[in-house]
Amino acid sequence: MRPPYLLLDIDGVLIPFPDADGSTPATHSRHDVVPTGRSADNPVAVWLDPAHGPMLMDVIRTGLVTPVWCTSWRQDATTLIGPLLGLSPLSHVELPRPRITTSHPNGYLWKRDHVDAWLAGAPAVWIDDDFTSLDHAWAAERTAKGTPTSLVQPDPHLGLQPEHVIEVMTWISRLPTVRAA
Ligand SMILES: [Mg+2]
Repeated sequence: MRPPYLLLDIDGVLIPFPDADGSTPATHSRHDVVPTGRSADNPVAVWLDPAHGPMLMDVIRTGLVTPVWCTSWRQDATTLIGPLLGLSPLSHVELPRPRITTSHPNGYLWKRDHVDAWLAGAPAVWIDDDFTSLDHAWAAERTAKGTPTSLVQPDPHLGLQPEHVIEVMTWISRLPTVRAA
């Protein structure tokens, strides 16, 4: 079997959502970035945990997964966010910019249909904070049909934790013969 994709979200995973009082985890530090299409004098503040870079690189260096950004940051994930964490440049899933007012316009994560087409039958472990029960059912059905699929879902206010990386590695270790990429 070819190595599965590791799909990585950013908002709610690497950038936690602020609590009601506006606070973010003490582990995270602030960076000002200028996303594509925004003027340089109007940066966006993001909070990142410097421990996330080494944590993800430990997984990436195993060669047992093919890491890919899957985020509304699109190519800015590679050019802006990845370097702040010391990640190697990763490609990204080309997501559209739908005019939606909820991330679950059909009861499931808006990215999923694009991801499903993009994966084209490849196995995947997908880290995102925003799955619904329909997404978990999709993953279970994919797995049942012979395409191992796992969803890892951090709490958006806490973001990625060491146990999520363990969950990914445990899932990989149980796959039928994955060869290093
Ligand atoms: Mg998210």
